[in-house]
Amino acid sequence: MTLAFCVVASLTARSQATPQPQIAAPVPPKPQPAVYRNLVLLDPAHGGADTGAQLPNSVLEKDVTLALAARIRPLLATAGFTLLTTRDTDAELTTDQRAGIANHARPTVCLVIHATSSGTGVHLFTSALDARPTAPRTLPWDTAQAASIPQSLRLVNELGLALDHAKLPLILSRASVRPLDNLTCPAVAIELAPLPNGTSRPFAVTDSAYQQQVAQALAAALISWRTHNPPPPPPASRPILPAAPQAIPPAQPKAAPSAPPPAPAPPTPKGAAK
Ligand SMILES: [Zn+2]
Repeated sequence: MTLAFCVVASLTARSQATPQPQIAAPVPPKPQPAVYRNLVLLDPAHGGADTGAQLPNSVLEKDVTLALAARIRPLLATAGFTLLTTRDTDAELTTDQRAGIANHARPTVCLVIHATSSGTGVHLFTSALDARPTAPRTLPWDTAQAASIPQSLRLVNELGLALDHAKLPLILSRASVRPLDNLTCPAVAIELAPLPNGTSRPFAVTDSAYQQQVAQALAAALISWRTHNPPPPPPASRPILPAAPQAIPPAQPKAAPSAPPPAPAPPTPKGAAK
């Protein structure tokens, strides 16, 4: 028997012995939940060249926001939350990038963190947008938070109760600021201000004991929030981004951009931790 015949015979025998591959039935994609109940997004504001406010003793706001987020993270992780942060390094992100990360992840809560040397206590802001009773099929990017206002107001109430319970002074306000207005999750912005202590020198926002006290109160509020608040109704869809480039026909003359730039695709989320 020639070698060639042996090979052909061997291949033929093998192909006869090989069972026909079975075509697996297509598996339907799992429906995505409206929100991930155990996922919390922290957005430490500023970063990189955007230093935020210059605080006393040459401290930069961008470092304080990062420090407070770092204190909140382990407390929530211990309580079984998964944490996602828009940054855990000195990175600079636009507000649209921050909102993009949050809206893509569908967390149960979004906390935007700022710090200031003016005023005292903890300032809590919710969006000043009018509440929209039901989520429409599409959400305009600039007012995406409108559909979540009732939830955000319940959230700020929960946070306020916890801070009050911890005997931390607080101020509640509403303000239309980015990325708060662009978020589709229940969202609150927290601005840490110095803590009065009965002396002419209040505790600074850099005081580690003060930061820890605030972090513990916020964590307690979110644990309570998870227990007492049902998930919101499924959102219609992600917010529509203005001026999507692919929607413009190539032949069309260049139009002056009248809308804010589209939010770029969210970068790989950093700092995901159990
Ligand atoms: Zn700030």
